Amino acid sequence: MSDVLVVGGGLVGAATTYGLLREGLSVTMLDEGDIAFRASRGNFGLVWVQSKGDGRPEYAQWTRRSADLWPGLQDALGEETGINTHYEKPGGLHFSLSEEDFEKRCALIHRMHNVHGAAHYGAEILDAKQVRELVPGLGPDVVGGTYCKHDGHASPLYLLRALHTAIEKRGGKIVPNASVSAVAPDGNGFRAETAKGTMRGDKLVLAAGLGNRKLGGGVGLDVPVAPEKGQILVTERARPLLPMPTHVVRQTSEGTFMIGDSHEDVGFNLTSTTPTMSMIAARAVKMFPFLKDLRLVRSWAALRVMAPDGYPIYEESAAHPGAFTVNCHSGVTLAAAHALGLAPMIAKGQIGDELSVFTAGRFDANAH
Ligand SMILES: Cc1cc2nc3c(=O)[nH]c(=O)nc-3n(C[C@H](O)[C@H](O)[C@H](O)COP(=O)(O)OP(=O)(O)OC[C@H]3O[C@@H](n4cnc5c(N)ncnc54)[C@H](O)[C@@H]3O)c2cc1C
Repeated sequence: MSDVLVVGGGLVGAATTYGLLREGLSVTMLDEGDIAFRASRGNFGLVWVQSKGDGRPEYAQWTRRSADLWPGLQDALGEETGINTHYEKPGGLHFSLSEEDFEKRCALIHRMHNVHGAAHYGAEILDAKQVRELVPGLGPDVVGGTYCKHDGHASPLYLLRALHTAIEKRGGKIVPNASVSAVAPDGNGFRAETAKGTMRGDKLVLAAGLGNRKLGGGVGLDVPVAPEKGQILVTERARPLLPMPTHVVRQTSEGTFMIGDSHEDVGFNLTSTTPTMSMIAARAVKMFPFLKDLRLVRSWAALRVMAPDGYPIYEESAAHPGAFTVNCHSGVTLAAAHALGLAPMIAKGQIGDELSVFTAGRFDANAH
């Protein structure tokens, strides 16, 4: 029995659990184990603001809030665990490889400026000469780009490890290999059925990624998330060559280059495929010709947790208040907002008005 049961120990569940513990609640976090689909262990590691929330200003503002909270999260996790999440905020670049793409990108940045208004969006449009002044070694196909000073990157694996370590240090209980088969209301609280037994909590948070779709119904929550496959390549280590992350190539603090990524609607398929890997590699070499001299050492595919419109789903069950669900496709970027913004709301028992647009009711055919 805990104040809160959290189902799912990926980046979303762990960030939420950590935030709930900071609010003084007792929390048990149940996680499925190595058979699970885990976006948190296969992602690209960007903390990305530019271009997020075109057409949904609340998402743009929530993303920016998370980027602003990230340095505090990094410091707190470092102090509590000694683990460095390797978060850096040197700004980020998005490159265009054709005039047509550049025009679209410029239009997007203008729209985003209008969205943010006084909040000061911070993204700039750079012509071919300006991008080359910022990043040496660009290929001739790069016609321009956009830069945003709020963008950054982190190691998703160190972030996950730091969150899990901080949870344990704060007295939270992590139960691994505890696949939850069903959740349900139980007296004044909730229960989760696992092979290890029944766990109970006064509140329940479903943060099981793609697993939320099946579990939600047990507490009156509709969670229409679906998988979207992304493939990533990793090179051998090199000396520091890239001063900041770009939307598809970043150099990690260890020196490897991560090269991403794809967006594939292929169900729960996790196969790495040669045509997609070739496309990813060719695009990256067009941007950075020096990459062709580096050997690839790894590749993988992982599944994003996608709502039909790509935005988060944050919701408290209307039928069973006290049961919440948390879902998003940018769990690295939003880790700070989940830990330091959303978790305090859940602790108080109410998701704030600024997040009310993120309920699944927006997918209702009759919703306006
Ligand atoms: C290729 C790729 C690139 C990405 N790049 C970025 C990026 O650059 N920046 C960014 O911010 N985001 C990125 N993402 C998205 C990010 O990885 C996800 O938003 C985030 O990991 C989602 O975390 P999650 O905890 O919701 O889901 P998951 O990581 O999938 O974790 C879900 C957890 O729930 C557990 N679980 C599932 N079902 C059950 C059950 N029934 N019982 C108990 N436990 C259960 C699983 O064990 C798992 O640990 C990327 C994703 C992919 C695939």
